[in-house]
This record gives sequence, structure tokens and C-alpha cells, in this order.
Amino acid sequence: MDIDVRRVLDSLGDPLLALDRSARILHANAGMKELLGWSRLELLGRPLTLVIPGGLPNLRQESPAAPPQSAGWEPHLPPPRPLVRVSALRRDGRPREVEVRLSPWPGGEAEGLSILSFHPLDTQVELERHLRLCRRLNMMEAALTQAFSQTSDEEDAAYAVLRACGELEGWTLGTYWRMEQGANVLEPLTLWTASPGLSDFTNVTMRRTLAPLEGLPGQTWTRREPIWCRDVTREARFLRADVAAREGLHGAIFFPVMGSGGRMYGVVELFSRAPREEREADEALANALGHRFGRFLDRLHHTELELTRDKAVRYLWESDLLGLFVSDTRGRLLDANATLLRMLGYSRRDVREGLLSWSTLLPPNQRISLEGVLRRLRTDGVFHSVESELLRKNDNRVPVLLGSASLGEEHVVTFALDLSAWRPMEPTAPREADARLHTLISHAPVVLFALDRDGNFTLSEGWGLEALGLKPGQVVGMSAFELYRAEATTLTHVRRALAGEDFFSVDALSTGPIYETHWVPLRDVEGRPAGTLGLSVDVTQREREARWRTQLLAEAEEARVEAERAVRARDEFLTIASHELKTPLTSLGLQLHTLLKRARQSGRPEDSETVQRLEKAQRQIQKLARMMDELLDVSRVTEGRLRLELGEVDLMQLVREVMERFQEESQRMGTRLTLRGEGPVVGRWDRPKLEQVVTNLVSNAMKYGAGAPVEIQVRSSGALALLEVTDHGIGIAPEDVERIFGKFERAVTVRKYGGFGLGLYIVRQLVEALGGAVDVESAPGRGSTFHLVLPLAGPEARVPTQPPTDAGLH
Ligand code: ADP
Repeated sequence: MDIDVRRVLDSLGDPLLALDRSARILHANAGMKELLGWSRLELLGRPLTLVIPGGLPNLRQESPAAPPQSAGWEPHLPPPRPLVRVSALRRDGRPREVEVRLSPWPGGEAEGLSILSFHPLDTQVELERHLRLCRRLNMMEAALTQAFSQTSDEEDAAYAVLRACGELEGWTLGTYWRMEQGANVLEPLTLWTASPGLSDFTNVTMRRTLAPLEGLPGQTWTRREPIWCRDVTREARFLRADVAAREGLHGAIFFPVMGSGGRMYGVVELFSRAPREEREADEALANALGHRFGRFLDRLHHTELELTRDKAVRYLWESDLLGLFVSDTRGRLLDANATLLRMLGYSRRDVREGLLSWSTLLPPNQRISLEGVLRRLRTDGVFHSVESELLRKNDNRVPVLLGSASLGEEHVVTFALDLSAWRPMEPTAPREADARLHTLISHAPVVLFALDRDGNFTLSEGWGLEALGLKPGQVVGMSAFELYRAEATTLTHVRRALAGEDFFSVDALSTGPIYETHWVPLRDVEGRPAGTLGLSVDVTQREREARWRTQLLAEAEEARVEAERAVRARDEFLTIASHELKTPLTSLGLQLHTLLKRARQSGRPEDSETVQRLEKAQRQIQKLARMMDELLDVSRVTEGRLRLELGEVDLMQLVREVMERFQEESQRMGTRLTLRGEGPVVGRWDRPKLEQVVTNLVSNAMKYGAGAPVEIQVRSSGALALLEVTDHGIGIAPEDVERIFGKFERAVTVRKYGGFGLGLYIVRQLVEALGGAVDVESAPGRGSTFHLVLPLAGPEARVPTQPPTDAGLH
């Protein structure tokens, strides 16, 4: 191709392609890249169908070899070619509507060279789309206007909406889901379909209810905007996807039906057989439809409500429940209902003749309030109910509850509720007060009574009478002495009261109830006793509870005394038992000792086994003896028979001796015992008792130490001696730490570790007797450290129960 052709094409801004005879691309200018995104290199040598997949409809006929000639054109100029509208393909695969014109290159006919010029049609396309949408909307609007004008029923209207969508927009099936206000669910109200074969889908749909957020259309309800699906069978949120797929429904849209003020009535769903392509158009239509239907429902509900309201007012006006009248703002009655006329004894004629006004209806002493009513009506629109009176035609008064509301500028409606049947008129204030008191007493759980000076009842009132099986006033005129002849205590109280005494009494009647009575003397004008006034309150429940509490307390006290007695008996038994057992045990120990000595001295080989057995028996005897000692010590401590014999003791030395005694046992158990500490730590203590303390702690450390080393540390700090016994054994749970120092308290089972649970009890008692303190730091599985603090100067220099941490070995 001629280089000039290229240059010319490049210099032109419009998108242009040069084509050869067989519609192959020979050149593309920069405008092409701009229009469709293809670069020149991508296009060169490729067929035109790459850019215009459908080809040019009249390219063949207009083949440059046989250009159509038309008269009137200069023969050397190419004849004008018609513009052809085609869909071009962008490089990214999207179509773009364009107009093209194919012209032969002047002078290039021999080569078959022609130029294709492009002209984008975007604006036109957009405009056309818009117009099409408007037409669809208009048609829909017209169809709905007609449908809505023919019905005042939600279901009918919904059906018409769905059918219009089907007929005008090509949807196959539609459902209207109504929102059940109270129940908070969507329920299908009606379904329309053009296609008969969708019974499965229809059945599944009509049997469903949906909660907000649940599937589709549940989510439309919460999102309050259309949800469009190209193919709903691929939509995870759509719970009926499998049935839809089976029945060949693919395209779908779900949109809310919105009324005014954001009120939502329900959701419409539409389905089509083919997947949807025009999302924007579908959504625009759905929005318009949802609002149009919503506005219709607004009107429907509003009318219904108004009708109901009218009906309610009419019924009220006609019922004999309330007297009602309408007056003008000057107070003249314009209309009244039959109830009011009956209540006040007027006729309809009286109203018609304009005889009635606020001032004729209100008694003179109430008239001033009329002004206030009108003022309030002008400012607030209502006058809240007040108790008042209205005048009957015959001037009698009727007690009423009155309330008014203004009906616009001109009129006032007033209701009058007749109270005469509910509460008789009380003309004077004192009687009113009396009545109030009477009401109070007759509803209170009390008995109010009065006796004259002879003991005859003159008054007997109060709800409390019911419990006695009496009616108010029933005993009036009877004698209290007669009535209570079987109740000796009560009779005494009656006599005291009639003698003029003011007092409280509690009377337990033989029939069961208990009364507390305040007796108040009555006097005549000269101040002489004239009987008594009594106010009794039924305190049966209160008294029973009090007695029950006392009884419980007594029982608890008895149990405590019994428990103490049992503990004492146990301790006594233990003291006696250990005493009695100790004596034979000591002699058994001595005999064993003798036997052992002999067996050792005999030197016969067969006696070496005997020696071993005897040694074992001796260890058992020693263990038994230690346990007996423990029991004896406890009884001594418990009975306060602990006598201290104080003297100078070196704690360090004492600990060494105790350790020596444990040497054999520790070797046998494989437990290494070590002592840390320097020099003597000398204090004024009871040596045997302190020895027992250390023994108990070391023996526990070995027993519960799981064979791990046991460390003992001794030192002095100021005026205190400090001893620490640490093991690495089973440890102690936090909740047991305090408890184990108690009598018979243990934190292990007897089956696993023998013992009485007395060792630590004795330790604490002895240490405290020596003026010191003991505690333990431990964690389960991590071993324990027992801390002991003793004043060097002896018990008189007592240390606080909690060893001071900074001075201690913690
Ligand atoms: P006994 O050892 O006879 O049971 P003690 O009064 O000496 O009685 O100890 C009370 C309880 O405290 C023991 O049963 C045990 O549960 C716990 N105890 C004492 N010393 C230790 C220790 N060093 N390690 C773990 N537990 C201990």
C-alpha cells in the first residue's frame, strides 16, 4: 500500500481503517485505538470481522470493483456511501455501537483499496436506551393505574402488578410476599404465572414464610432495595434454587414495596426463563413499581383506617355509654346525643331551639370554670377530664366526668360520663371524711370495735372480721363478756380497758387466730370512763413465725450443746484409751528390745532374719507409741493441762538431734535431710515440747515429701528464732492451708497416708503456747514450706499470729 495513503490516514483525527479487496486490514490510524482500544499492530493483516464481528451488510454489493454509480456525481469523485450502523467490538470484548461508511480510496480502485471511517454512537445509544425505558415505564404506569382503579384489595392489586410485569416485561412468574406486621415474617399473598408447568416451584413458594435476612426475598426486606440476579439458580442466598433450576427459571429480581414514611408492605419477586441482561433497566422498573404499588397500599390502608375511625365515632355517638355534645366556641349546644339528652332530661327540640348552652348545663358554682375550659381548648386543643356536675332540666344535679376537645376553630366536642351509679353524691365534707375512713377500715385487715361502759358492742367494722366469720356490725348490741366467755385472757383485757386503761394486748384465741389490740378508753363529757375503742390487727402469721424462730433457735442451741458433749466424750475416750494402751505398749516395746538384744548377741546365722523381723516390729511399736503420744498430747492441750517447763535451749542443737533420730528412717525412705544455719540459736523454751514441734514438722515433710530432699533452715533475726522446713512433695491446696492446723483435720485420704490429723494441731498449740506462730506456704504438687517463728525470750514476748514476712525466711 502506498505510503502516502498511510500518511493521509494518520493525519486525520476520525477513526479510520484501510481495507483491501478481501476486507483485510491494511492500516489503522490512531483514532481507531482511541475508539476501540486495538493497536495498529494488532489489526494489521487481520480480517475486518475482528473489529466488526457481523461484517458490513452491504460490503459485497459495494465491492470497489463494481461501485454503484449515480447520476449527478462527478465521475472522478467517489459516490457518497450510505452510513451503516453496526456493533463494533472493543479490544476488551465489550460491544460499541458505531456508524461506518465505506469509501473506495480515490485512484486505488485497481488495488481494491477502500477506507472505512467510524463514527461512535454512544450518546444516541444511551438516548435510545433511555427512551425505551421511559416507554416501558409509561406502559407499566398506565397498566397499573388502570388495575389500581378497579380494586381496593391488596391481593387483587398485587396480582395485577405481577401480571403487568409478565405481560409487559416478559417475566414468567411473580410472587408478592406480604409482611405480617406483628409476626415479623414475609408470607406469600399471591402468585401469578404465565406458564402452566411450574407447579413445583409454585407449591414450594406458597408454602414458605421467611424471616428478615432469611434467603431471598428475606434479604430484600432488610436491605430495602432491589436485588437483581442474572441467574438466580447460581445464587447461594436463594433457598429455592434447586426447584428453580429444575423448572428452568433463571433470571430474577426481588424488590421492596415501600409506602410513605419508609413503611414497607412487602416484597415482589419476579422470575424469567432466560438469564437477565439489562440490570439497570430491570432495577429502574423495580424501583418505580415498588413505589407505585406502595403508594396504592398507603391509600388503601389509610382509607380503611379512616372508615374504621368514622365507624367508631358513630357507634360511640349512638351508644348509651357516653353523653356527647357539640358546642360552638361561645358555649351554645349545636348537637347532642340521645344519652346526654336522657341524662339531663332534655329533648331534641330543646337543642334545636338553641335553649341549651354550657351555662344552662353547669351549676352556678361551676360556671366560672367554663372560661378556663375554653381557654385551655384554645391553647391545647383538649381539656382533660374533670369530675364535675351537670344540671338536669329539673335542676337536679348529675355527677359526671367531663372532657372536651376542640374540633377546629369553631366547634368543641364534650363528653359527659354519668357517675351517679358509681358514687353517690356526698353533700357535706364531714360525712365525706367519715365515708373515707369507713372505706379504709372496711378494706384493711383490721377489726375496729367499740364497747360501751357495760361491755356491749356499739361498733364492729373491718375486713379482719371475715377471718372471725363475722359480718360488719353483726355483734353490735351483744356483750363482749358473753362473746368471749371462753377466752379468759381476753376477758381480763376487756375489764382493764373498761376501767379506763390505754394499753396493747396480744390475745391468742382458742380458735387459733392471734390478735394484737390497742385499747383506747372512751370518756363522757364529764371525763368519766364511757367504754373503750379497740383496734385489733391479726398477727397470727407474725406470731407463728416468731414462735417458730424461737423454737428453731432452741433446737440449734440444743444441737450445739449435744455436739460439744459428744466432742468432750470423744476426747475423754481418747485420753483414757491412749493411757490404757500406752502401758502394755511400753512393756511390749521393752520385751522386744530384750529379744532383739539377745538375737543380736547370739551370733548365729539363723538369728539374723529374726533380728530383721524384730527390728521391723520395733519400728511399728515406736510408730504406735508416737501416735499414742499424739493422742495424749491432744487431750492435754485441749484440757488446758499444758505446763511449760522453760529453760535455755539451743534450737540448732535440738534440730540436729531430731535429724539424727530420723537418720535411719530417712535412709530407708531415700530422703535426704539437710540443715542450713549458723551457730547456736538459743532461746527460753520448753525443750521436749519444741522437740515435738520439730519432730512433727520433719516427719510430715518426709511423709508427704515423696522421697525428695527435705531442707531445714534455722537462724535468728533480732529477738526471734526462725525455723523453716521445706519439702518438695505433694503440697497443699490453698483451701486446705488453714484447715490442716485444726484438730483431726487432714487433706489426704487415710488409705494413702495414715495418721490422725493431729500433728499440726499439736504443733500450732505448742508453738502458740511458746509465744510463737506457725504457717505454711504451699502449692499442690510443688511441695510445702512450714515457717516457724519463736521469740527468743520465751512466751512472755509473744509474736503476732502471722509471722512477719520481712523478718522471716519467706
Ligand atoms: P496427719 O499427717 O496425721 O494427717 P497432721 O496434722 O500432721 O496430720 O497434718 C494434717 C494434714 O496436713 C495432713 O493430713 C496432710 O494432708 C497435710 N500436711 C501436713 N504436712 C504436709 C506436708 N509437708 N506436705 C503436704 N501436706 C501436708
